[in-house]
Amino acid sequence: MHRLGLAIITLGLLGAAPVARAQIVRYGVLDDPARSQLRAAWSDDSTQSERGYCVRRARIVVHPISPTAVDSVFRVLEVVPARSTEADPNHVEFTCAAGTPELHTHTPATCVGSSTTYCSADGPGAYSCQPSRQDYEKLIRRGDPFGVIQCDRRAFRFYYPSDFLAHGDRAHTSTGSDSIR
Ligand SMILES: [Zn+2]
Repeated sequence: MHRLGLAIITLGLLGAAPVARAQIVRYGVLDDPARSQLRAAWSDDSTQSERGYCVRRARIVVHPISPTAVDSVFRVLEVVPARSTEADPNHVEFTCAAGTPELHTHTPATCVGSSTTYCSADGPGAYSCQPSRQDYEKLIRRGDPFGVIQCDRRAFRFYYPSDFLAHGDRAHTSTGSDSIR
């Protein structure tokens, strides 16, 4: 099916030792053709279902920022609409080929349940750029390096396995405010 042209490029070399470097900042970028395509496909209809895409070509560029740390730029070059097996206003079922990251839309509406009967434009559930638990669980299950949510005509949210708490982060259990150093 769609094979991903996923290139991982390391720019520059700081220090020769091949040590594992810590990943610090991740930047997600959509190149012009993919961005234009997704903007054109966006709809403000409040009764729509979510839609899925496969990231057909992407490039991850690694920028060493010190001998022990890197930043990375995740650049999406091409997307193709995915065939969904099930879709409603709050989720979409689709599967891209292994190794092909996924992108899906979150809708501009707030809907109660899985029917479009109880949808209203805008509201607290609309334009959500927050990946759901299911979004993260699918990302980790698939082993993809990133996923993308289109949450408005011009807004794209990249998310990464390391964002997910169960994937090795420290639980944030305090209800008070943390000090900022
Ligand atoms: Zn989602």
